Amino acid sequence: MAEMMATRAAAIAADKIEAFRNYIDGEWVDGGSGEWLDNVNPADTSDIVGRFPASTAEDAERAVRAAAAAFAAWRKTPVTARAKILNQAAGYLEANAERFAAELTREQGKALNLAKDEILRSAQTLRFYAVEGQSFTGEIFPQDDANMTVYTEREPLGVVSIITPWNFPVSIPARKIAPALITGNTVVFKPSSDAPLSGYRLTEAFVQAGIPKGVLNFISGRAGDVGAAITTPPVVRAISFTGSTAAGEQIHRSVGITTRTQMELGGKNPLIVMDDADLDQAVDLAVKGGLSLTGQACTGTSRVLVMREVKAAFTDKLIARVKALKIGSGMAAGTDITPLATARQLETVLRYIEIGKREARLLYGGEHLRGPGYDSGYYVSPAIFSDVTQEMRIAREEIFGPVLALIEVTSYEDAIRKANDSEYGLSAAIATRNPKLMHAFARDIESGTVKINRTTTGNLINAPFGGLKRSSTSTFRESGRAGLEFYTQIKTIYRGV
Ligand code: NAP
Repeated sequence: MAEMMATRAAAIAADKIEAFRNYIDGEWVDGGSGEWLDNVNPADTSDIVGRFPASTAEDAERAVRAAAAAFAAWRKTPVTARAKILNQAAGYLEANAERFAAELTREQGKALNLAKDEILRSAQTLRFYAVEGQSFTGEIFPQDDANMTVYTEREPLGVVSIITPWNFPVSIPARKIAPALITGNTVVFKPSSDAPLSGYRLTEAFVQAGIPKGVLNFISGRAGDVGAAITTPPVVRAISFTGSTAAGEQIHRSVGITTRTQMELGGKNPLIVMDDADLDQAVDLAVKGGLSLTGQACTGTSRVLVMREVKAAFTDKLIARVKALKIGSGMAAGTDITPLATARQLETVLRYIEIGKREARLLYGGEHLRGPGYDSGYYVSPAIFSDVTQEMRIAREEIFGPVLALIEVTSYEDAIRKANDSEYGLSAAIATRNPKLMHAFARDIESGTVKINRTTTGNLINAPFGGLKRSSTSTFRESGRAGLEFYTQIKTIYRGV
């Protein structure tokens, strides 16, 4: 094994591809398998951004043991000392924002300005929890005994596993790791195998900030190799997972009742366009909500339910806007549509476009782009489908790509019924000028995030975030103050004299 690892290390050195390591128990260490996972640039697949350990179950078990051993001291560390580490890690991200943004674009594909926003937002998230975590307390309860005080205390859970996807490879880990650490938990963090570098940089930020050994452990590797080892042991007291509904449900089923889960999963997010909407604004919501990030946002618009009266005008404006979008590498300034993030995502999106062509009417796009600038990346032109009906797969299944399904509706009630006819409930939007409909929509829509004249995408750091139905476990919300609740348990104390 040692010989194999040495040979591999020599090969990596020879072709100058940087090899990264796990961070376990306060040390940067190789994985035990000696195998590596290539982190591929989706805009140019000949560019290997780095190699990460294809870790083994034993590596993962070691990370869990390290986190368990570090818990007793970390929970007793003063909250101000924990907050200082979060703030220093935030400073490291801010100081290196340009470099980390370029790496994020290289590994994930998104436009450079969005990558930089994501790095800075992650730093802001750390700073937010450094403050909020210091005033997150229990309650005191009025009662009849003058010689007694009844109150609750919040305490950390223990070891928390954090498992994240490739679409926001630093901001999603940040919004989980920060509340976990500030409340005194220790963490095992597994990033997506398709974009591990940004999560590695986040870990590096905490290491630079002086996080004690074992408190935060970073382990790269395939879900099939390390997933069970970081989710099923009873010492893992909580799992915060963001990813596909299939994987989230599988993990949720596999753990015991003493392991708390927070699952942020898929979506099939609708935008309703009423006949009184400002159509230019509605088109903007569809384009920005559905096609920015190349449709690879969990809250991305994928269904547009448009009133019959305005369907033709809306569709004409939409196609004109989509035709003008610039498709290319995220490194080029002014790019609207960047490549899909992985070969698997490209294959999935092209498969759904073929399904859509059989089920509905393709109005525009949907091509696997070829030619100079496109040949070496995962480029697809945005696809706009019309005449989509409820039973079609492109109206029901998450595609996670630049594909919009236009569905005709005849009234507000028809629109709500169709919007709610989905197993998902992550985000939903309406475009209307009618205050009564705005009010009704907020009440009627089965969705954890409700947007009125705003894109289905986008959520604040300081407000709760999460879905309904199969989009989320619907127990604990992420983000904001609510994001702290998941990482603490409550004790009720009756103290007499
Ligand atoms: P995914 O395939 O489910 O993977 C997500 C993460 O989970 C990866 O790190 C993956 O590891 C790991 N994983 C998969 N199965 C596992 C298992 N059985 N045990 C432990 N870990 C496991 O999802 P994805 O393709 O990366 O991301 C796209 C999905 O994420 C979409 O469905 C999207 O809607 C959803 N998403 C949801 C939100 C939200 O907040 N609701 C936000 C963003 C994305 P590997 O990479 O090694 O396979």
